[in-house]
Amino acid sequence: MTSPDLRSRDEPVVAIVGGGFTGASTAFHLARDRSLPLRIVVVERRAGLGQGLAYSTADPSHRINVPAARMTMDCAEKSGLQNWLDRRRIALSAGTCLATGEAFVQRGLVAQYVADNLAPHLASGRVRHLRASALAARRVAGRFMIACDDGSELVADAVVIATSHPPPGVPAAFAGLADSPRLIADSSAADRLAEVARQARNVLVVGTGLTAADVIASLDRQGFAGRITALSRRGLRSRGHAFGYAESVADFAGNPARSALALLRRIRAAVRLDRQSGLPWQAALDNVRRDGSAIWAALPPDQRARLVHRLRVWWDIHRFRIAPQVEAVLDRLIAGHRLTVTAGRLQTARQLDEGIAVVWRGRDGRPRREVFDAVILTTGPAHGSVVAGSAFLSSLADAGLIRPDALHLGLDVTQGCLAVGGTAPPRRAFWSQGRWRAAMSVS
Ligand SMILES: Cc1cc2nc3c(=O)[nH]c(=O)nc-3n(C[C@H](O)[C@H](O)[C@H](O)COP(=O)(O)OP(=O)(O)OC[C@H]3O[C@@H](n4cnc5c(N)ncnc54)[C@H](O)[C@@H]3O)c2cc1C
Repeated sequence: MTSPDLRSRDEPVVAIVGGGFTGASTAFHLARDRSLPLRIVVVERRAGLGQGLAYSTADPSHRINVPAARMTMDCAEKSGLQNWLDRRRIALSAGTCLATGEAFVQRGLVAQYVADNLAPHLASGRVRHLRASALAARRVAGRFMIACDDGSELVADAVVIATSHPPPGVPAAFAGLADSPRLIADSSAADRLAEVARQARNVLVVGTGLTAADVIASLDRQGFAGRITALSRRGLRSRGHAFGYAESVADFAGNPARSALALLRRIRAAVRLDRQSGLPWQAALDNVRRDGSAIWAALPPDQRARLVHRLRVWWDIHRFRIAPQVEAVLDRLIAGHRLTVTAGRLQTARQLDEGIAVVWRGRDGRPRREVFDAVILTTGPAHGSVVAGSAFLSSLADAGLIRPDALHLGLDVTQGCLAVGGTAPPRRAFWSQGRWRAAMSVS
């Protein structure tokens, strides 16, 4: 069944597949530019646009990991989220605002902020929300036919891929335990976490990043009284924030480094220099993030690979900083000997009557074995299988319209975020999550 209203009129149709923060923001920016004669359809199964993986949580212990004053869906308004909270006089839960003034709000509020901005465009019909999942897309007479799981077929002139985070992967050691009631492979399953909080005494969390921190804070909020071991290859925790510091003068975009090692040396030198002016390391790292596109563009492929393999884990813990409220929970549990964050390589996992027996090799190379009441996987979305894990993306790859990027971080795109296919040249009317302005090139 083809959507008839989307065929009959003359304006080009932009189909945005995925209605998380990226898809909803893209729709918002396209919709408010009245000079663009477009109809915009967001294909998203979730009830609310803007929720996606990060902001669909209803768990009050899940907070944004940057202050609200630094989050926005409109770069022209630097503190968009904070301004919206103030304008709407949103009541914030106790402990949200720090003494220094920064607000780390509960993540569900971000979805409300996005939905509020998008509401007029949905009401006017300029944006339509098609509550479905896209299953496949094909090219027909220069347009795209998108088949959805509700049986509808959408005809579009341009497609924005905003499907982002794929489902989490399962480490090899747990591959045989997929059906175990003691293994929680998807840590966003709130009912399963609630059960662990009620019943378990000894829990293994696989992963030590921000998702692990979310899970641990959630268990703690729900009265979990037992012991947690958080295990990852390096046992690194996400670093914390610093506040009220001036901007660093560090510049990584002018004459950018041509190797991963040179980049690392420059960052270290910048941190040392900043320290002499009383700046914390966060100041230089902020500028690495700011200059990220230029840094990446200047690195040859082998050095990009080196950066990803050797430095990414360090980048992740410095770049994705933890909300202070969540950090305080982890610190309290560690101090009370109820949380151990440790480095190790998983060897085996076996289902027993009394729990899951897990063997890992610690830093010293010696094997450790422990039986856990429950194991929660928090290794995050499996970006390496972003195409294979999605029927929609697989159909596009089969048609030669997209392909995974060389380092398996996501999709291969041009500097302007046009999708690069295996056989077809980059398409002006085929655009992968990135800058919304590119969609203006729809012809
Ligand atoms: C747990 C977590 C917390 C985070 N916290 C923050 C934070 O505090 N601050 C910050 O700046 N960033 C945060 N991030 C980063 C975050 O990923 C981005 O800010 C942003 O939310 C990504 O949104 P997205 O729309 O690109 O992806 P997603 O949130 O993954 O949304 C993709 C959407 O596409 C839909 N979809 C997928 N396949 C299809 C299909 N075939 N058809 C139709 N729809 C489909 C999904 O249902 C989903 O709603 C966090 C990330 C995570 C995972």
